[in-house]
Amino acid sequence: MSETVTRLDTVKAAIERMTRDFEREPGSVTLIAVSKTMPAEAILPALEAGQRVFGENYVQEAKAKWPALRERFPDAQVHMIGPLQSNKAREAVELFDAIHSLDRESLAKEIAREIAKAGKAPTLYVQVNTGDEPQKGGVSPSEIDAFLETCRVHHGLVIEGLMCIPPADDPPSPHFALLAKIAARHGLSGLSMGMSADYEAAIQLGATHVRVGSAIFGARG
Ligand SMILES: *Cc1c(COP(=O)(O)O)cnc(C)c1O
Repeated sequence: MSETVTRLDTVKAAIERMTRDFEREPGSVTLIAVSKTMPAEAILPALEAGQRVFGENYVQEAKAKWPALRERFPDAQVHMIGPLQSNKAREAVELFDAIHSLDRESLAKEIAREIAKAGKAPTLYVQVNTGDEPQKGGVSPSEIDAFLETCRVHHGLVIEGLMCIPPADDPPSPHFALLAKIAARHGLSGLSMGMSADYEAAIQLGATHVRVGSAIFGARG
């Protein structure tokens, strides 16, 4: 068995264990296997082992890798989890089943326009900059209420949930708890939070989608 499949099984088992231990509904946590920078040959073993939801950070890279992989695995889903430029909205709406990095009005406007043209909509998550880090994408917690309102009222967007990437030097749990609190206040069911180092804590705090890369595919080059 490939190392990737062994690691994938370990992550899946941990997700199941945490789901059970914290009395979450079975199957309520979706594993997004983050395959950014991994070539198609590295992704194939995970697909062959039955993994169907993947995360990518770059539009160009996803465009180069996924059309061929999807021909072989038509039910594979690809989620955009990286920063998205507004001028890539068209390609992103065409290519991705979900976008986790909606974080500003110019992008909301472009995504809404492309959804109307394409006649299909990716599932949308708004990224929240829970640590208010200047270099990081995401809407500040102080502006999230107004931003969600703008998405809904001015752009007609259906927002499924929220996403965050806690500051590297902070314990992640307070950030996960804050994201869950904001989502609950808005009646949003999706919580995209938790990566290789902290997905178990994220599940404890209500994650519906964990984004796990290196714990499955190994360290990125
Ligand atoms: C790369 C990345 C991940 C996966 O990170 P790992 O630490 O390799 O699990 C998750 N979320 C986002 C937004 C990423 O950019």
